[in-house]
Amino acid sequence: MSMGIGMSRFAEFAKRMGEVKPSATFKYDAAAKKPGVINLTIGRPGFDTPEVIKNAAKRALDEGKVHYTPSKGIPELREAIAAKLERENHIGGIDPDNIVVSGGAKQIIYCIIMALADRGDVVAIQNPTWVSYEAQIRLANADVDWLSLKPEEGFIPGDSFMQDLEETRAKLLILNSPGNPTGAVFPERRIKEIMDVCSRRGITVISDEVYEKLIYDGRHYSPARDYENVITVNAFSKAYSMTGWRIGYCACTNREVMEKVDIIHQQSLSCCTSFAQYGALAAFTEEAEEATRRMREELRVRRDYVMKRMGEFELEVICKKPGGAFYIFPYFRNMDDYELADRWLRKGVAVIPGSAFGSQGAGCIRLSYGSADMRALSEAFDRIME
Ligand code: GLU
Repeated sequence: MSMGIGMSRFAEFAKRMGEVKPSATFKYDAAAKKPGVINLTIGRPGFDTPEVIKNAAKRALDEGKVHYTPSKGIPELREAIAAKLERENHIGGIDPDNIVVSGGAKQIIYCIIMALADRGDVVAIQNPTWVSYEAQIRLANADVDWLSLKPEEGFIPGDSFMQDLEETRAKLLILNSPGNPTGAVFPERRIKEIMDVCSRRGITVISDEVYEKLIYDGRHYSPARDYENVITVNAFSKAYSMTGWRIGYCACTNREVMEKVDIIHQQSLSCCTSFAQYGALAAFTEEAEEATRRMREELRVRRDYVMKRMGEFELEVICKKPGGAFYIFPYFRNMDDYELADRWLRKGVAVIPGSAFGSQGAGCIRLSYGSADMRALSEAFDRIME
């Protein structure tokens, strides 16, 4: 090959690339995929998707349902979602046209942020919180405001969180209960107090409820039940073990907001995968619910086991029993979480350092028990304790 061929220069990266890092959950998951390593990094249920859902998707493929769907999603799925929101979440009056189905909760939240947040706007998020909220806010050139959660309060919003909320300039707040990375289930009373402040201060709330069906103690409360300034986000990923299907949705009583969200969704994805939508429709069956109940019971057993083993540490640890999701997020006093995660990795157990989830995660470790069975968890703790 003569000099110069194939050596043309690539365009410079967009400035926004200086603002975002790779997803820590995916980064640590990829690094954990080594023989012999027990992977407690990425947050996913390791169960199979219920048969009834898989069969519905297969049938859709066989019936040739392989084309674009309406951008907001097939009408029968949006009708089923509206009925579910009314039945389970007591959110009445959602017109199916006020629902947008997209490629997972992640994609939906991105569309909402792109539709509502501008350069100079502030979006408030919990600290610690799931890794992608911050990245998505920065991709919109907006600023992040962090509202502190504390290990000694079980990462349930306390006085300092409420104080931060009173003082924020945010126009949007992302609320996540049960929470990632903490598993904390916020009590209804506290969510209402948060919502009262947001209503008074004109803050719109994005309520990410993807872990609502994985609650072991306490009850889920959807703020859209009583408040209008809420966009409810949910997905099939965690509730029905469908993380690879990439299907989630949002709903809100404000048609104009949903139309704008749909524009971003149309212009970036067109519509969610057709046969995944037909599969998701079968999630609203008794068979699928029964599979979710079984999964929740198994996860509860794992959570209780993990909490029991946490008691064996000689280090000073704060780890309140989380009420939901499939994470524990212990705080190790005077420890560097990156060093601790490295040390455990050398022993063959992969976890995510808490700092990846915000400054309040410093000294913490996120351990996901969603995809590790009891044998793997027992072996993981034996290795860590060695
Ligand atoms: N939400 C999961 C986690 O925190 C899945 C990975 C991701 O999308 O970040 O691990």
